[in-house]
Amino acid sequence: MRRVPTVVIDPGHGGADPGAISQDGVYEKEIVLATSREFARALAARHTYRVVLTRSTDEFLPLRKRVACARACKADLFLSLHADTLPDPGVRGLSVFTLSAQASDREAAALALGENRADLVGGVKLSREPRDVGKILLDLTRRETSNLSITLARDLIAQLGREAVLLDRPQRSADFAVLTAPDIPSALVELGCLSNTAERRLLQQPAYQQRLARGLVRAIDMFFASHGSA
Ligand SMILES: [Zn+2]
Repeated sequence: MRRVPTVVIDPGHGGADPGAISQDGVYEKEIVLATSREFARALAARHTYRVVLTRSTDEFLPLRKRVACARACKADLFLSLHADTLPDPGVRGLSVFTLSAQASDREAAALALGENRADLVGGVKLSREPRDVGKILLDLTRRETSNLSITLARDLIAQLGREAVLLDRPQRSADFAVLTAPDIPSALVELGCLSNTAERRLLQQPAYQQRLARGLVRAIDMFFASHGSA
């Protein structure tokens, strides 16, 4: 039987950490949890994925635990959902982040020192290999993951661009700790700007959350159809 891909959806923030807050008191943690639930529901309804949420309630979850959750359930793909505030209230739009190359080097270096190094590279027992071989294998895995993450980001922009306004240069990279699993294609979606009144109103609406969820589902389908044979 063909293995069903596991998609981990990570609603940002939660509990004591509200994330971004709009001027009129709308919390990022609530917007992203509601949208993540819609996304999880729509994705599960396809019956072609195993869907896991890192949190399904208003609880605090450290970044490391989110990555650990993805690795523990052998995720084929990891998506973290957020919404931000920008200094200019006139600016609105969605953007997608992948890990910047520098951050991914540093994280991988730290991980390589850990004792769980072996299970990072699909079943290859690195501990039995000479040191350099282990490092090369980890490096190859990381590079492949980075390429797949960029493909995933492109698919997300293509599909979400049909549902939402995009920021200028919507595809970006940054040092997000939550994107550092060396072996799981990962992206972080900033769904919109809570600092923009029109977009903040939209983000609160279930109908708009469902629209975003539909775009996210199409992007996941697109990713696995063309590149995601795990
Ligand atoms: Zn956030």
